This record gives sequence, structure tokens and C-alpha cells, in this order.
Amino acid sequence: MPEEVTGAAKSVICPHCSREVPIAKRCPHCGQILPKPKKKSWKTYKLTPVEIFLAILGTVVLLIALVAL
Ligand SMILES: [Zn+2]
Repeated sequence: MPEEVTGAAKSVICPHCSREVPIAKRCPHCGQILPKPKKKSWKTYKLTPVEIFLAILGTVVLLIALVAL
């Protein structure tokens, strides 16, 4: 991913002109609308709703088992 930037400098790579530009609505070089920068959150850890349900179910079952013992 070319968007990986170390440090506090926040910038994105313009998909239109491939230049590194500061986060803004529009690219200062080509004037095209920039996409919103991707936030690094746990959403990158892709789980389907079924997997999330199973994970919660597994946790609940484990907790019940621990309490019951
Ligand atoms: Zn641009």
C-alpha cells in the first residue's frame, strides 16, 4: 500500500496523478477529488457476520463454562 506513511505526517497518494498530497477534499495538483484516507481500525480485520457471531458465541460459552466450574 503506497498510503503507508510513517510518522505524524498525514498525506495520501492521489489516484489521479500519483502524487503525495496532504489530506484534502481535492488534489492540489490535478484538482480531482481525493478519496477519504483509510483509517486503520479493526475493520481491516475482515470478519463475516457469521464469524463474528461464532466468536461471540464461543466467548459466551467459554465464560459460562468458567463460571459453572
Ligand atoms: Zn492529483
